[in-house]
Amino acid sequence: MIEDYKKLAELKKEYLAYEGSEVITWCSGCGNYGIQKAIERAVVLEGYKPKDVLFCYDIGCHGNGSDKMGKTEVYTLHGLHGRVLPVAAGAAVSNPNVKVIAAGGDGGTMSEGINHLVHTIRNDYPMIFILHNNENYGLTTGQASSTTRRGLAMNGSPDGVMMEPLNCSEFALNLGASFVARVYSGDVKHMTKVLRAALNHKGFAFVEVMQVCPTYNKATPVEWYEERSAPLKSTPKTRSDALKAARDMEKNMKLGVLYQDKKTVNFLDRLVNRKDVKSVPVDEVKRFNISELIKRFM
Ligand code: SF4
Repeated sequence: MIEDYKKLAELKKEYLAYEGSEVITWCSGCGNYGIQKAIERAVVLEGYKPKDVLFCYDIGCHGNGSDKMGKTEVYTLHGLHGRVLPVAAGAAVSNPNVKVIAAGGDGGTMSEGINHLVHTIRNDYPMIFILHNNENYGLTTGQASSTTRRGLAMNGSPDGVMMEPLNCSEFALNLGASFVARVYSGDVKHMTKVLRAALNHKGFAFVEVMQVCPTYNKATPVEWYEERSAPLKSTPKTRSDALKAARDMEKNMKLGVLYQDKKTVNFLDRLVNRKDVKSVPVDEVKRFNISELIKRFM
């Protein structure tokens, strides 16, 4: 880890290219600060230049990360609520030379956009997805999401949430995701390490970040995570072992890479019609003059 810090110091110029100058709007103590740092460190340590990465953000508190990235040198996209995955997947498939890192919150991802998550996993698109799971809709002032713990009183549900929360990593594992990890927003070093592993995965890498939201989620503050977090010594060998590791969200929360299929055949590698094609789809975009066609309908 000391080696990483030395390397980051040497790569200061590259690192600063990812740092934006916009005023920070996240609340004091928000887990987003640590997540943003870990993403920036991971891409720099893996040798990515800003022109080689596209950061795609959904709507939610995490989405302000789009403004935090260095404005002039970094490509970012800030999409519609719950819809970041199809847009990011399209970009990843169109130009596999660019690494796509998408992010979404538990609200948009596990409710409005849950269908997109299902099919992104199923297609094993070559990209990373970072789920900011703060267990509530923070941007709209703390309503319950599908990951809010049962019994917790939230804005809009003052008598407490009646349903059991979704376990996001377990959900992704059950759908057959080829890479699933769970990390905690207070541990930047560990997040950086796991994100580096995700950057090197061939298919869809699902990284669930358990994120503190001190403003609206009082049930799981920093102390709560620090008492329960249990880093995995090694990645479980089988999906069923990974599922066992992912299950406990209360007493012994296992953190790290829960599962990885290193031999996965991702979406692009399964496309028979692109076998042996040297160009990528964006190279093949052609311009057509359709003015004559339009005139026929005027
Ligand atoms: Fe962070 Fe919560 Fe504030 Fe949103 S509401 S910025 S998630 S602390």
